[in-house]
Amino acid sequence: MASNAPGTATARCHCGGVEVEANFPSRFCAHCYCWSCRTSHAAGVVTWIGFKRAQVRFVKGEDLLRPYESSRGTVRRFCGVCGTRFTFESSHGQWADEVHLPLALFVTPVDREPGVNSFPAERPAWAPFHAFADD
Ligand SMILES: [Zn+2]
Ligand SMILES: [Zn+2]
Repeated sequence: MASNAPGTATARCHCGGVEVEANFPSRFCAHCYCWSCRTSHAAGVVTWIGFKRAQVRFVKGEDLLRPYESSRGTVRRFCGVCGTRFTFESSHGQWADEVHLPLALFVTPVDREPGVNSFPAERPAWAPFHAFADD
């Protein structure tokens, strides 16, 4: 793994054109089974790690990102070169000041493990599942 400044982690898209550095502490890390995440990422589950907007800095390639408004007030951005889904940002309530990044894009360690399942009722039966104490 690459090395980072203490208290930070790096995420990159598949082509490496987009890179962010996120400052700890993260806000949460969750497996999301909602229909919108699953179809947007073409995956059975998407694992997100959330940060306050001010904690996420684009090292390069923010201009490569293309926005897609997946629902009113919610924008998912993806790399225009390689197609990697990179950010989830929403103007709704608790998420208004946050940027959520797929945990899979991190190339250096983050400060927490997944700890919660979001929208488990929308999980396809074939998708992997891990129950947490709070479920
Ligand atoms: Zn890319
Ligand atoms: Zn979701």
